[in-house]
Amino acid sequence: MAVPRSGTDRGDLTRTAILALLGTVGPLSRTEIAARLDLSLASVTGLTKELLGNGMLEELDLRPSRGGRPAQRLGLVGGAGRALGIKVAADRLVIVDVRLDGEVLGSWERPFDPAAPDALADLCDAVEDVVAQATRTPPLLGIGVGVPGGVDDQAVGTVNAPTLGWQAMPVGERLRRRLRLPVLVENDVNALAAAERLYGKGRTHRDFLVLTIGRGVGAAIVTDGRVYRGARGGAGEFGHVPIDPGGPVCGCGAAGCLEAFVGAAGLLAAAGAKGLTIPADDPSGAGGARRGPVAALGRAAADGEHAARAVFAEAGAILGRAVAGLINIVDPEVVVVLGEGTADWPHWRTGFDPAVRAQLLPGRRDIEIEVESWDDTSWAQGAAALVLATPFDAAGTAGEQGRLVRARLIGATP
Ligand SMILES: [Zn+2]
Repeated sequence: MAVPRSGTDRGDLTRTAILALLGTVGPLSRTEIAARLDLSLASVTGLTKELLGNGMLEELDLRPSRGGRPAQRLGLVGGAGRALGIKVAADRLVIVDVRLDGEVLGSWERPFDPAAPDALADLCDAVEDVVAQATRTPPLLGIGVGVPGGVDDQAVGTVNAPTLGWQAMPVGERLRRRLRLPVLVENDVNALAAAERLYGKGRTHRDFLVLTIGRGVGAAIVTDGRVYRGARGGAGEFGHVPIDPGGPVCGCGAAGCLEAFVGAAGLLAAAGAKGLTIPADDPSGAGGARRGPVAALGRAAADGEHAARAVFAEAGAILGRAVAGLINIVDPEVVVVLGEGTADWPHWRTGFDPAVRAQLLPGRRDIEIEVESWDDTSWAQGAAALVLATPFDAAGTAGEQGRLVRARLIGATP
């Protein structure tokens, strides 16, 4: 991690670099911090004293060191701040309240119509309502919003999301004006990658892919510890990789995209072609069970229905070939699979595993592809991670909004 050596606020940047290091790799001793950031032990001692004083760091256990006296490790205080994360979906908002260390303090769900005449006012109302209901401590650092679409810049937050019917929607600007809090907006899959970087694979890997399956298909590419956003923030639209020009028409308007085959609509069309009738909704949908026709298809597969299993296996094979292509291009250390669709992964993988291995270049065939646990609030937790990652963002990706988040973290603690 490079620490800038010039500029008037070098001390601030070094503090941020120390927080970034502890936030991403976990507790370390002062000597380890100095070595990793190429700083003198004296300056690390001075700066960490300050960070201990304002409640952002705490002294942890003593770790035995070779030959010398035990080294005291320093860690971030998980309760030094919190953020609200909002997942905007086509029919609802899921909002979570999350501490700096990832602990979820509360969650809310609100019906939402993105096509309503003033959908942004409805969004602001819902968030304002939750801010009023949520706990007062620790300090609220900001609001993160995850959307199923493209975002120009996290710190501006103008959204293009065809699945919501949104074009150039000033989500960030409206929320900032109403709530007077820092607001970061990002593509929802990129937001999940930010959460992985903070709490998951990003702690031990610099280069990884996040793949999501569910209503659509998405990917986030993390290279050298940063989410790759592309020239206009639109990178990672993996669902629109062309598979077959004769394939079904995709939501984007083109024919035969990956998502048109393996997204929810594609799975249901394949099931229909096999003569399977899927009930419109799950009669036992109460008590948190998965809802919707894909969940019903998943239950049919779990019950041993051959045609239902074949739908997932065939989709898995299509997905596996496409993922192999992406792995061959990006060369990640690990692939993380997330999303609502992972509930049916045992059925996907019968097609996915052989297909992905067959297309991978030699030397990459042992790549780790890991399916992580998923629940209804996972998307919203990713959105909160946008804000919670900014104190650790030594590179300043979140711009002015990130600076405001850091100021709230430092300013609000005694
Ligand atoms: Zn498409």
